[in-house]
Amino acid sequence: MRIANLSGRAALVVGDRPVDVQAASEGAFGPAADSVFERWAEFRAWADGYLLAEGAAETSFNPSLPWLSDPEIGAPSPRPRQVFAVGLNYVEHAIEAGFELPDTPVVFTKFPTSVTGPNQELALPKGSVDWEVEVVAIIGAHAYEIDEAQAPAVVAGLTLGQDLSERQLQHAGPAPQFSLAKSFPGFGPTGPVMATLDEFTDSNDVEIGCRLNGELMQQGRSSGMVFSLSEVVSWLSHVTPLCPGDIIFLGTPSGIGASRRPPRFLAPGDELVSWMEGVGEMRTTSTGLPLAGPGVPSSVARRHAESSRGV
Ligand code: ZN
Repeated sequence: MRIANLSGRAALVVGDRPVDVQAASEGAFGPAADSVFERWAEFRAWADGYLLAEGAAETSFNPSLPWLSDPEIGAPSPRPRQVFAVGLNYVEHAIEAGFELPDTPVVFTKFPTSVTGPNQELALPKGSVDWEVEVVAIIGAHAYEIDEAQAPAVVAGLTLGQDLSERQLQHAGPAPQFSLAKSFPGFGPTGPVMATLDEFTDSNDVEIGCRLNGELMQQGRSSGMVFSLSEVVSWLSHVTPLCPGDIIFLGTPSGIGASRRPPRFLAPGDELVSWMEGVGEMRTTSTGLPLAGPGVPSSVARRHAESSRGV
């Protein structure tokens, strides 16, 4: 099954159309998009029954449905308590970024205010804004100290995300600061739908990619991840309790702008189209109205231009 956030309300994808969860469940679930994750197991049981009764349980998903590109579509989990992200989680990307393969997950956070829906305009801050297309997991339970075998049961489903990153701020200072540099407003677009794991032929081998102004920048399969979804969920849960609605950016394949020669970053007017098999497309349009941003001293910008590392 697939769910979406339509103007803040939870919707179930029934065939080709979104159905309001509160109306269809006669008030049992919803209305808020994030409310379904708090009672995910109950909601899932109701939704599976509803889809079966509607004859829509086996309907194949059409990622080109016009309503999926509506700017009113919000993030599937719009107010996560925690937003985790994993760096260097694809072999080819770790190589292009100039790092050794990690032997434990490299984890940072994106602050929750950076999360937006899939079809948004992006006000570019000063600096060098880069793209990182990623599979994003949404948590559907309270989970603490769970092993890998239990992990899929606490995941509500997968969506598509962009871990947008301002590389100058990321490398300002003696040690990288991923979290701040990846948390400007609009730096965490996700959507357009969340699909449960059973909707994929193999939920550990899903294609993602992105095009900038029509030119292919990234294309990869999640089977190229160093640490799988289950390994990441289990690893995180041994440190911090996971909450319903939490989201996890699972890392990006190769092809980011910082690793290109010459490096390439988003400019006003650029259109970044990202896609994920089984989930659909996101369209991020950069506006010509820059955010103020803190700005980074020119010496740092120069050093960054020389090293051009992205994670
Ligand atoms: Zn990333």
